[in-house]
Amino acid sequence: MSRNPEAIARMIRDAQRIAICSHINPDGDTLGSAAAMRLALIKMGKDPVLFCDGKVPDQLSFLPGIEEMRIPDEMEESFDLLLAVDVSDIRRLGNGEKLIRKSLHTAQIDHHPTNPLFMEENSVDGDAPASCILIREQIAALGLEIDSDMAVCLYTGISTDTGNFAFASTNAECFEIMSELMGHDLPLAKLNRILFRERAKPQVLLMGRALNSLRYYENGQIAVMKLTQRDFEECGALSEHADTLVNFGLDTIGTRMAMLAREGEDGTIKFSLRAKEPDCVSDIAQQFGGGGHPQAAGITMYGKLDETAGSVLDALIHKLNG
Ligand code: 5GP
Ligand code: MN
Repeated sequence: MSRNPEAIARMIRDAQRIAICSHINPDGDTLGSAAAMRLALIKMGKDPVLFCDGKVPDQLSFLPGIEEMRIPDEMEESFDLLLAVDVSDIRRLGNGEKLIRKSLHTAQIDHHPTNPLFMEENSVDGDAPASCILIREQIAALGLEIDSDMAVCLYTGISTDTGNFAFASTNAECFEIMSELMGHDLPLAKLNRILFRERAKPQVLLMGRALNSLRYYENGQIAVMKLTQRDFEECGALSEHADTLVNFGLDTIGTRMAMLAREGEDGTIKFSLRAKEPDCVSDIAQQFGGGGHPQAAGITMYGKLDETAGSVLDALIHKLNG
């Protein structure tokens, strides 16, 4: 598992029509990575097309060019190269998986330690705090300079995946790149407010539901929250509005692991698992077919909310006492 920007640069130089694919339930890192790569490829005279099997969160609609994002459904065209960004495993492409058959070559840039290196070329560094860090390096390997629009994209990915430069993963490289981005008129205060402070009203209402559902187990060491489809409907909220709520559980003093289980419109249950170092939850996520990082992992499965949540909670309790 290592960075491989030169190999991917060669593939990009040999390609003209390039599909860039983000992961399902897109976040700031996958969309920032995709938007920055698109801008770089346009500068090279390539024809990039953005794909994501999911809606761009309103909060991230400021990303330059993100309005070009397409859903990978029935595509007529084919591509010379598919480039997946921040996609930890093949299922996280969703319907974007169809792009693999539509593309002559495939590559990926990612930072998830659980990535099974499923493309032809893989630039994957499980120690990098964000995929956007690797995208910065990829742009340099292509012989391009950063511009102010790319700076907005890269900042979005790096800041969101490091919890606004607060997670243990935050390292010197983040700040080296930030220093460079600040030199490109990065509107830091404005973006920081959009990304980390402002909330849509449905999100505030949903926060209330999540806190109401909060239960503690094992002397408060495990925090569990659940959101039903009814909660989402009554708050007028979307799934994306629940994305950071798991932290209310985790941030409780004495809590070591937290889980948020939410019902999706499509009959799936989506789990967000979090842990404080040195506890780890990615192994638990993998037990249930999910994945992610040691302290931030997720699972998507079919079933009933209470039953599936009960199974994941049992696994967390077992891990805690194991
Ligand atoms: P979140 O809880 O914020 O949705 O996801 C936390 C981390 O777990 C992310 O880095 C994401 O890549 C990973 N993750 C979330 N859901 C899934 C899933 O259903 N399958 C896998 N393999 N990883 C997931
Ligand atoms: Mn990421």
